[in-house]
Amino acid sequence: MNIVTRFAPSPTGLFHAGSYRTALFAYIYARQNDGTFILRIEDTDRERSKKEYEENIVESLAWLGLKYDQFFRQSDRTALYQKYVQKLIGSGHAYVSKETPKEPGGRNEVIRFKNPRKKVTFHDLVRGTIEFDTSELGDFVIAKSLTEPVFHLVNVVDDFEMGITHVIRGEDHISNTPRQILIYEAIGATRLPEFAHIPLLLASDRSKLSKRHGALPMTDYRARGYIPDALVNYMALLGWHPSDDREIMPLDTIIKEFSLERVQKSGAVFDEEKLRWFNRQYISEMSNAAFAASAAPFLPEWLSASSPRFNRLIPILREKIAILSQIGDLLGTGGELGFVRELPAYQPELLLWKKNPSRQAAHAHLSKALPILSSVADADFGKNTVKDALWDYAEREGRGDVLWPIRVALTGQAQSPDPFIAAEILGRQESLTRLAAAIKKLS
Ligand code: GLU
Repeated sequence: MNIVTRFAPSPTGLFHAGSYRTALFAYIYARQNDGTFILRIEDTDRERSKKEYEENIVESLAWLGLKYDQFFRQSDRTALYQKYVQKLIGSGHAYVSKETPKEPGGRNEVIRFKNPRKKVTFHDLVRGTIEFDTSELGDFVIAKSLTEPVFHLVNVVDDFEMGITHVIRGEDHISNTPRQILIYEAIGATRLPEFAHIPLLLASDRSKLSKRHGALPMTDYRARGYIPDALVNYMALLGWHPSDDREIMPLDTIIKEFSLERVQKSGAVFDEEKLRWFNRQYISEMSNAAFAASAAPFLPEWLSASSPRFNRLIPILREKIAILSQIGDLLGTGGELGFVRELPAYQPELLLWKKNPSRQAAHAHLSKALPILSSVADADFGKNTVKDALWDYAEREGRGDVLWPIRVALTGQAQSPDPFIAAEILGRQESLTRLAAAIKKLS
């Protein structure tokens, strides 16, 4: 049997974490079984559906690397639905119902499903057997007119026509399933798809995650500088986990190990702090080239991702950030790496080590450090060679006494990385220039 899953969003808002996790599970299950993954835009609600939201869904899935094999849009398929509405009316499963309009000029006719009022039982792969008495649902509406079918009908017709074998969706759809099963039976489906209703995502206070509460559009996570692979990994673990306590798992490993039976029933908390932790791990594991490519859109305009200076910054940036948008703050004025762009204006007193605030001592150490640094060849100039060159002198004279003024001379900042790293980032020439400037300040 070819496994076919689908992600069937309604384009009525920006694409959020909850929808994304549903898409991801449907995608993983299809890939695990060498099956087919379909994206189906459910835009029958014409008032609430917007093209920009459809575009946001498509763009987000592409960014996150979830490739679909087929694409459908329900508004392109109205003729098909009309055929089914007519068929259901013809077979007596549905009827045109006269209505008293709710408001002046409102509809006086809709199409209702003739509910057989019976017990419906289905097996949910996550939640087990679910039984429901459909009597209380009455004769529900399946179309507002022959050409305006509503959600329950189109959802079932499409799942049937597209040969969906596994309906994987949020648990908020459990209560829709009995109605939908009645429609399946009425259109003559001989078998139902498997259903897997996955648990809701919760905000950190365990209330439902929603647009108004805790959930950002996925494109905002891109803007904040999350790495798609980190998001995919984190989101796959919301409601599912492997049989051990591994957390960092690339998608192909998840695809091998995933099972719907191991999806939990209780809600899963979406925690941005934890997501940041995942992102940090992915950033630290990336190759330098991959990091440079990901970081490029986040760099200030004076720093090019292909420059030697950026290359020298890569290790410290990777160590300091959890998300790429922090790069801007670090390198901006007042940031810990603000000294990289240019030496900030600073007072000579900042050069004095607090445990021995003597101008003379600072002047002497800097005057000694200048020729020492200058003796390191340009090609070898890096944090280790600079450290090796300075170390004996610093040990002898006192580390704070020697290294504090050097660090301030290089960065002009009270807080910054150590002087060896600062020297490496600045390079030999700029480091020597800044040391000379500091000596002058103290003279
Ligand atoms: N269009 C529905 C929604 O956005 C999806 C229904 C389903 O997956 O069956 O919630």
